[in-house]
Amino acid sequence: MDEGKRLKHGIDERPFTCQVCSKGFKTRPHLIQHGAVHSDQRPFGCDVCGKTFKSQREVRAHTRGFTQLPVFLNVKFVTKSSAHVTH
Ligand SMILES: [Zn+2]
Ligand SMILES: [Zn+2]
Repeated sequence: MDEGKRLKHGIDERPFTCQVCSKGFKTRPHLIQHGAVHSDQRPFGCDVCGKTFKSQREVRAHTRGFTQLPVFLNVKFVTKSSAHVTH
């Protein structure tokens, strides 16, 4: 009979529920913002390959992968700088 423990101050009420993943939200704006996750909106694009993402965080995680690879872009930079350094 410890119901008071479960509902501390009634803060956990989330009347706005996502119809896709059943996640609950406290406010309508939160739910709308979350809806972007399920929509096909990808306003954030990768400058390197043009791939699009739903959030800036995903883009960063994606471009981080590039820096760990011998990227073709780096070749450009190398040739540029090596042309600068003459014997
Ligand atoms: Zn959802
Ligand atoms: Zn990319």
